[in-house]
Amino acid sequence: MLTVEEAQKEILNFQTTNSPTKSPLLECGQQVLSDNIYSPHDMPLFSSSAMDGYAVRIEDLSEASSQNPIQLKVVDDIWAGKTDLKPINTGECSRIMTGAMIPENSNAVVMQENVEVLNGNIVVNKPLRLFENIRTQGEELKRDQLALERGHILNSASLGFLASLGFSEVPVYSKPKVTIISTGTELVPPGHKLGTGQIYESNSIALQSALKNMQINAEIIGPLKDEKDLIFKSVSKALNESTHLILCGGVSVGDYDLNKGILADCQVTSHFWKVAQKPGKPFFFGSKEKTLVFGVPGNPASSLVCFYNYIRPALLQSLGYSDQALFLHQEKAKFTDNLSAKKPGRTYFERAHAFLKNDQLFVSLTGKQGSHMMQSFSMANCLLQIKGNEEIKKDALVTIHWLPDAKGGRL
Ligand code: AMP
Ligand code: MG
Repeated sequence: MLTVEEAQKEILNFQTTNSPTKSPLLECGQQVLSDNIYSPHDMPLFSSSAMDGYAVRIEDLSEASSQNPIQLKVVDDIWAGKTDLKPINTGECSRIMTGAMIPENSNAVVMQENVEVLNGNIVVNKPLRLFENIRTQGEELKRDQLALERGHILNSASLGFLASLGFSEVPVYSKPKVTIISTGTELVPPGHKLGTGQIYESNSIALQSALKNMQINAEIIGPLKDEKDLIFKSVSKALNESTHLILCGGVSVGDYDLNKGILADCQVTSHFWKVAQKPGKPFFFGSKEKTLVFGVPGNPASSLVCFYNYIRPALLQSLGYSDQALFLHQEKAKFTDNLSAKKPGRTYFERAHAFLKNDQLFVSLTGKQGSHMMQSFSMANCLLQIKGNEEIKKDALVTIHWLPDAKGGRL
């Protein structure tokens, strides 16, 4: 049986980066730039006022003091967007608003709070520095200078920045096409009436939400009954239409766990089945041509643990994320519980909550850890990844793996 690390490696060796494309800005959140972006113009585009005040010449004010207040004549009123500007000459100034263009000959702006207005003149009693309160043309970036580098992960600020450079679409790696198929005769979508022996289908909701956090939409199919022909049809279709297929449930060893057989019938090559871990041991990974296939066990905690450890890294890699950014962000925290050793040779994922107290990060388990239990996962902001033979004592430093939804976590 593969270890967690071996399973992760195998998947990433298989996963390639998607082809570059151009996407509208608003669809590019959390995506990775596939090309360098150069500034098409100077930033700022033109020298403008950083304050509401008066555009002046510092030469006129070099002797200004409270004993020697200097009067300047206001010759123009300049608002943001005004283009027809009067140059200012010795002894003159222009009323100017934030963002408005600086008139010819002016080299500083005096804040309106620092002047006295007197019959169309202003009185200034302090000298100004060269370019004081002026945002000078090109001070952030010169035209053709590198604005954002290939590989940059686009956050909201990046999208605003690119918009300010005039881009409406940007080069990123195309998004994966994900299909989630949930299987299980006992499953009923939430909102419907349950019959005896039935339970609510919940995995597709958790998985979909985790995908949404990555700005990835998924096609959702099911819940399907454990019937061979029915599942075969949906899997065949999904294999043709998706880059990533998540088939949920039916990959264990029960009589109605049909999905491995169905995948084989669909010519999916099996790369591995089973990882030495809990939860999520019967995890399956295969492929058909360019489509990667993940068979996740149906227990809700198992399916989500498999998603964070295997599927999310593969999807991030397809989007062009660097190797260091694929896995859950790790940090050290002090353990508040006692955990006895379990089965050697297995890795255990425990749901936990990390919190800061007196500048120290602590971590506590969130409760019952059964694979079918989601309350403790709901309370968790991180996972502990623990080797089976490890005994962890209170106050020991452990590595936590921040969940992407967590406040302190990184995507
Ligand atoms: P399986 O992997 O099909 O053997 O299912 C393992 C357990 O997970 C069973 O108790 C199923 O009822 C449950 N299960 C399977 N699929 C889902 C699902 N999509 N949502 C919630 N529970 C599920
Ligand atoms: Mg089942």
